[in-house]
Amino acid sequence: MPDTADLAARLRFVLARTSHPGNIGSAARAIRTMGFTRMELVNPAHFPDREANALAAGADDVLEHAGVHGELVDALTGCSFALGLSARRRGITLPELGPREAARQALAAAERGEQVALLFGNERSGLANEELAHCHAMVRIPSVDDFSSLNLSQAVQVMAYELRMAALGDEVPAPPPEHDEPLADAALMEQFYRHLAQTLDDIEFHKGREPTTIMLRLRKLFQRAQPDQRELRVLHGILADAQRMATLAKHK
Ligand code: SAH
Repeated sequence: MPDTADLAARLRFVLARTSHPGNIGSAARAIRTMGFTRMELVNPAHFPDREANALAAGADDVLEHAGVHGELVDALTGCSFALGLSARRRGITLPELGPREAARQALAAAERGEQVALLFGNERSGLANEELAHCHAMVRIPSVDDFSSLNLSQAVQVMAYELRMAALGDEVPAPPPEHDEPLADAALMEQFYRHLAQTLDDIEFHKGREPTTIMLRLRKLFQRAQPDQRELRVLHGILADAQRMATLAKHK
């Protein structure tokens, strides 16, 4: 698999006719947090702009290197695969993908050496049909029908995240084991449950009630906790102290 920097260089985020420079900055930040750097702008209303830099929050390198184009086709130079992001279903016969599948396909194309574009539309009007006409598929983030439009930079964030997840694939670092101590096995758990049952007897917890149900509940609780051996030793210690106190109380 090619190096992730090579892959990132083959994936570009194209923003068409952006009205608010702040969204350009937020989009730069969104892509930078997920390891991407390429942004192309098509006829932005205001750019460069202080608002864009303010919202980029340090992702100024993305803004500095962003290409600014008068025509969409120039922003797509070299691209053989383009995905158009749209909140609305269009009367256009393009295949429609969800963000995850779109990210998988985009990454697969980039891994084959293709250049890939993710195209985002204007804040108010979205992508025009002529813009979608450059795309190979449409991507809809599955928002609710009666309030479907995400903020532009948030739509960028969703796609950047999905691309990163797809790129990490199996390499997503496994969470570190929480236990540096070996977990208690079935035999140790049984020993603990016997100690617990005996202690509940000793402290007269049951008061004539049948102990079976409560023991089952407690088992469920401790099984869920999957204690390690050190934790179990602490619990045994607590039980032993409770037993000792019960004996003292009896002999008072
Ligand atoms: N009314 C416009 C919304 C524009 S929001 C429309 O219907 O498309 C600005 C851009 O953010 C959109 O052009 C699109 O690229 C992206 N976007 C917002 N919500 C989205 C969604 N639910 N799915 C896919 N893209 C979305």
